[in-house]
Amino acid sequence: MPEIEIAPQTNIKELVAQLPIAAEVLTAFGLGCSGCGVSKYENVEQGARAHGLRVEPILDALKEARRSGSVPKIAEEARRPIARAPGAFSGRTKFAHTIPIMSGKGGVGKSLVTALLAVGLRRKNYSVGIIDADITGPSIPRLFGLHRPMLIEADPVKTTPQGQPQPLMHPAVTRSAIEVVSANLFTDQEDKAMIWRGPIVASVIRQFYEQVLWSELDFLLVDLPPGTSDAPLTVLQSLNIDGVVLVTMPQALATMIVRKAANLIHQLKKPVLGVVENMSYFVAPDTGKHYEIFGPSYAQRVAELAQAPVFARIPIDPVKLLLADEGRIEELDDPICDVLADSLLSAIAAHPKPKETISIV
Ligand code: ADP
Repeated sequence: MPEIEIAPQTNIKELVAQLPIAAEVLTAFGLGCSGCGVSKYENVEQGARAHGLRVEPILDALKEARRSGSVPKIAEEARRPIARAPGAFSGRTKFAHTIPIMSGKGGVGKSLVTALLAVGLRRKNYSVGIIDADITGPSIPRLFGLHRPMLIEADPVKTTPQGQPQPLMHPAVTRSAIEVVSANLFTDQEDKAMIWRGPIVASVIRQFYEQVLWSELDFLLVDLPPGTSDAPLTVLQSLNIDGVVLVTMPQALATMIVRKAANLIHQLKKPVLGVVENMSYFVAPDTGKHYEIFGPSYAQRVAELAQAPVFARIPIDPVKLLLADEGRIEELDDPICDVLADSLLSAIAAHPKPKETISIV
């Protein structure tokens, strides 16, 4: 077999398959994506860009590793993301699309759907961030295996009304370069319960939006607290969102869910972009037979009410549960990630929002 070329356009998965030490080199640069699903879709240059790194030092190190058989010493400078150097930060982050993910009640898999959507969009090489605004039960860091507390520094530009510098958070970055901000990343005690009242929830969402050193993102997904309470909705109205994605599951309480969805649409004055019915059915692994464990699907009914398409019906799936529990959701090799991303892209195209992109910080 001819030796694989080490170039910006070289596919990461193919490179690692032929030159296993490349995985160690990439990991040394913080590109932990060599083992996960994203590497199938990404070349070295895209991986470097996603992590805010220059591609040349990575290519040099890969070539050196191939020559010498070991991982060369990598300069600290080459490992530092250029996109987020705090000194270079002069103020304005742009999000092309801001999409909240909402559910009528907790436990329907809203966080998992947010994660799958983020993974799908990353695999299409969009830059993606997630605000984990479900601050009463923040589970996004767990899905992506993020444990280290976020770095917080003084904002070089903005001050509080008391004249103190505002805190500026660095988002955590997943292995495939999805940026994440979550209340769970303020502490290393993941299981510590937090009790927040409505107005605080609203203020936290706003801070997660504004006081964060986000990269320029194509998509900012907002994993909202369950329910359709006023506080988060009021914030959303001021954030120039494209529209919401509604996550439901089949159950006897469907009429309540439908009523809540109607209420939501009324309050938000923004389109529902699509409906995802999670835990919709179970496929028996031995017979392939579908069982509607939680009752018949209401996806179509909710979608009609919301005047939105059904993006997907996601089955109950032990593989997703396992990867979610182990913090390895980016390794999921399932077409559902593409289906969700494609559906969202079509829905956005069908509901173009006013031209301006919001500028903040
Ligand atoms: P929510 O954000 O709506 O509260 P989560 O996303 O945290 O819900 O999901 C609740 C639990 O159900 C989690 O343990 C999650 O891994 C699991 N889960 C969600 N969707 C599925 C699915 N389709 N198959 C199996 N387990 C799922």
